[in-house]
Amino acid sequence: MADPYPTCWLNGSFLPLSEARVSPLDRGFLFADGAYEVVPVHRGRPFRLREHLERFDRSLRELRIRNPLSTAGWAEVTELLAKAARAPELLVYLQVTRGAEHGRNHLFPPASVQPTAFAFVSPYPQPAPAVLQAGLAGVTLEDTRWARCDIKSVALLANVLLRQEAQDRGGAEALLTRDCQVTEGSSSTIFIVRAGTLLTPPNDHSILPGTTRDAVLELAAGWLPVEIRSFSVEEMRAADEVWIASAGRSVLPITSIDGQRVGSGVPGPRWQAMHSRLQQHLDAIASQPALEHDA
Ligand code: PLP
Repeated sequence: MADPYPTCWLNGSFLPLSEARVSPLDRGFLFADGAYEVVPVHRGRPFRLREHLERFDRSLRELRIRNPLSTAGWAEVTELLAKAARAPELLVYLQVTRGAEHGRNHLFPPASVQPTAFAFVSPYPQPAPAVLQAGLAGVTLEDTRWARCDIKSVALLANVLLRQEAQDRGGAEALLTRDCQVTEGSSSTIFIVRAGTLLTPPNDHSILPGTTRDAVLELAAGWLPVEIRSFSVEEMRAADEVWIASAGRSVLPITSIDGQRVGSGVPGPRWQAMHSRLQQHLDAIASQPALEHDA
């Protein structure tokens, strides 16, 4: 199948994705030893680029992998790839691994081994109109991931298995729980609306500090009271509204959990309003003059 956006970036060069090669000894391949980011491009503008690149740098620092590019360097790669793709709605994927050396050693390689850096573009998966009208089904599952979910590591095996398990049970997202408390979705942060207040769990080691979560919290300011605190599965089931948020799916309503309706079983009025606010926010950003490599 032809690549929809054929240009990628690998270790400093732009080249056709079909020609990009990495060593099978790369530690990303052998150990999932790397970090990544997914930057959404809306109306032709990378959204919250600085926040994505700061989180990328933090993930790499936590993994003790040298970031081969500055924030400005990654911003340039992201913007040039988005420009080459010539589409207003995109996802730009960025990844850095600890690189390749001969052999397979658990210990870090010598400092002379260069990290492998890669970026490519994929289409933005717009939600179907039926999803916006009816919402999504969530499935609660025990959070089987490691203890540092705040790092955006490429080691996503547990997330993959959880998402597939949710899908096999008829759901569009796994809603993860630890000790009966809700952490987040398998690839999204989570919000509930309860008695007119928006709740989301605090950023700690059990969740990824979501960029879309921050955008939602900013857009709620002065309109919807917000409480940052943990909540139980039972509290989530009894909520008026449940939302998930991510760069790849924006903010979407969960209208059933484990086959039981959430609230009235249709996307709620607070979600409708938040979704409109987010669209208006993106339109407002697009109407401003673009700043080159504004990261
Ligand atoms: N939590 C997990 C586990 C994720 O994988 C993601 C995004 O992929 C998120 C939360 C949401 O983060 P963001 O809004 O920055 O995409």
